[in-house]
Amino acid sequence: MRRYSAFAIAREAARYHQGWERAWASPEPKKSYDAIIVGAGGHGLATAFYLGKNFGITNVAVIEKGWLGGGNTGRNTTIIRSNYLQDASAAIYEKARGLYETMSQDLNYNVMFSPRGVIMLAQTHHEVRGYQRTAHANALQGVKTEFISPARVKEIVPIINLDGPRYPVLGGLWQARGGTARHDAVAWGYARACSDMGMDIIQKTEVTGVRKENGAVVGVETSRGFIGTKKLGIVVAGHSGVLADMAGFRLPIESVALQALVSEPIKPCMDCVVMANTVHGYMSQSDKGEMVIGGGADGYNNYTQRGSFHHIEETVRALVETFPMISRLKQLRQWGGIVDMTGDRSPILSKTPVEGVFINCGWGTGGFKAIPGSGWGFAELMARGYSPLTAEFGLNRFKEGRFIDESVAAGVAH
Ligand SMILES: Cc1cc2nc3c(=O)[nH]c(=O)nc-3n(C[C@H](O)[C@H](O)[C@H](O)COP(=O)(O)OP(=O)(O)OC[C@H]3O[C@@H](n4cnc5c(N)ncnc54)[C@H](O)[C@@H]3O)c2cc1C
Repeated sequence: MRRYSAFAIAREAARYHQGWERAWASPEPKKSYDAIIVGAGGHGLATAFYLGKNFGITNVAVIEKGWLGGGNTGRNTTIIRSNYLQDASAAIYEKARGLYETMSQDLNYNVMFSPRGVIMLAQTHHEVRGYQRTAHANALQGVKTEFISPARVKEIVPIINLDGPRYPVLGGLWQARGGTARHDAVAWGYARACSDMGMDIIQKTEVTGVRKENGAVVGVETSRGFIGTKKLGIVVAGHSGVLADMAGFRLPIESVALQALVSEPIKPCMDCVVMANTVHGYMSQSDKGEMVIGGGADGYNNYTQRGSFHHIEETVRALVETFPMISRLKQLRQWGGIVDMTGDRSPILSKTPVEGVFINCGWGTGGFKAIPGSGWGFAELMARGYSPLTAEFGLNRFKEGRFIDESVAAGVAH
């Protein structure tokens, strides 16, 4: 595959952009592969990428029922941060954040990583204590965060109202190297790199069954026939329960819709990400000028991949006290994705009761930020049977009561 470069742009400009190659191939499925990944979202594609890059396993298919990146990966609000509380979480999220720093160079694809900084506002005394505790934990974990004063919050976010009547801003947990990236580009960049390594990305093909012999996987039934493999990675976010059911085991996962909305584009007014977990809303400004606004997940389980009116009202009502300027904005569009929630708000990266079947799910409302770290660790787990990054995130923790409680870090959907 030809490299993208400034020279390539100039060359193609001179010949009316006729020479660009397709970014990835769309091959017919082979009879079998060394490994199959179900789900061409960010996590599935990153897993395939690191299987090839770190372990030389390239006879891999990524099977996607829709189009690549069309699930939550292409529907999220792109916040990247690693200010989690528990050591296992900080390790995988910080690994991911670090990989985001060089992702554009590593993939030769501009993912527009923008480390513009993320503030989680403290708007109750309980939150002040909680975030101070997280800042201390992060210091021990080697993750750079700090608890900042209201005056410093105002300096970073001039449009904020600190003195809301119900929830004044009492400080914030600030991660200066957190930020955002272009979500589609992350999926596209990995897809292009995987295709370049000779992997098959098979879109518009639904996995409809998991075939087993003597308790081990031998392949998957798909809408385009049977495809054999002895290693299967299930990476389908909100549909994890459905795929686990096909393989014959159950997951402690609930699927719910999570929604977001954007305003009309306006002049640049906020150059960082602000999350207000107590009132349940968060906001950033996209490169196009839209205010990107998200709130909490739906309060009931569902597979409804779309927005709803009550959500707009709740989220905007939550934020308007802290950001009065949004009362004058028009909404451009809203949407939803189906997220996979665990009880402890931490992911599952694990072997399963079926030999050869591995599961990567439970990223819930906050898995975009984890994509490269998750792919790195899950590929290692699939290739070697063990990864230090994923060791704590096994399914057995739910039986053993070893929860990795991240309900504060994941307090608002993000
Ligand atoms: C509105 C919203 C806002 C969010 N904001 C943030 C944020 O700011 N920061 C953050 O870190 N995270 C955020 N998230 C969460 C984040 O988007 C997800 O955790 C992450 O994208 C999950 O990636 P994935 O690759 O696991 O899943 P997906 O991207 O959903 O990919 C799974 C794929 O599996 C496919 N699939 C399903 N069933 C089958 C089948 N039977 N056969 C073949 N393919 C199948 C689906 O079509 C889908 O493409 C947000 C999510 C939403 C919905």
